[in-house]
Amino acid sequence: MTSVSSDASGISQIIENAIEQNPHAGELLRAFKPVIVRQRQLAKAAMLMPADYSRVDKEKLKAGIPIIRQADFLDEADDIKQIILPLAEALKEGMPAVTEGIDRFCTLAQEGKIVLTDYFKTPEEGQASAVDKWGADLKLSPSNAAFLMSLAGRVILEQRRNEAVAALGAFDWEKGYCPICGDFPSIALIEEEGGTRFLHCSSCGQDWRFTRVCCPYCEKDSRQGMDYFYVENKTQESAFICDECKKYLVTLYRVGHILPRDMDVSAIALVHLDMIMQDKGYEPMTVCAWNVLG
Ligand SMILES: [Zn+2]
Ligand SMILES: [Zn+2]
Repeated sequence: MTSVSSDASGISQIIENAIEQNPHAGELLRAFKPVIVRQRQLAKAAMLMPADYSRVDKEKLKAGIPIIRQADFLDEADDIKQIILPLAEALKEGMPAVTEGIDRFCTLAQEGKIVLTDYFKTPEEGQASAVDKWGADLKLSPSNAAFLMSLAGRVILEQRRNEAVAALGAFDWEKGYCPICGDFPSIALIEEEGGTRFLHCSSCGQDWRFTRVCCPYCEKDSRQGMDYFYVENKTQESAFICDECKKYLVTLYRVGHILPRDMDVSAIALVHLDMIMQDKGYEPMTVCAWNVLG
């Protein structure tokens, strides 16, 4: 496991650099800046009780079972309000249009009318039903609630990632989805020297080496028909395209020493590639707050 991302310190400066270099994504980056900065601070502060990784089996990891399916990431006793409420403030700062809906959500959470952990109890299917139930019972905007909860999910998963990596040390992982949380990558990075491909998970922040010559999503052998889409005059940014599953993966090339970068920030800065690929009928490997384009 090698980290290609920066840590919490300096994230503000990295976002400012990205705005300067990607003016087309400036508005989006500015909107997400307060949230990203706060997420990193909260994840570092380790707001939750440490989880137990003693049952995590490295053989199961090698077989492709991510850590989230081998350990409990959230305890009933964990108070996730202490993550949600500061994140709500950051969200309102970057995206003032959601203020009313988010304030209503936070009031209900503080009054105990929303059981926040319900959202994370059953991954995926559970999340949609929890948000729909809140929406129906409490006359709450499901999209605002889902957005805030997904941002909180990153903080929870990033803390668990940090703990798990410290507890387990190195382990083998050969899948195209994340070894920590099981989500698919939001962006990839290829080192020009040696050609190593790293995948990045924006759900938990994990980076992992992916040496197999296949599509990270459907595992189709990509030696033939491996395709990268480039925008004219931009040789360091591309999108990997798979014609089997019709997914794309935004991909960056790293040449020698460059400014410190953060893969989540880079993924947002390259949103123009999402627009182009979705316009061509491809889907992202994972849905992120910034790449769902209507
Ligand atoms: Zn992950
Ligand atoms: Zn594929």
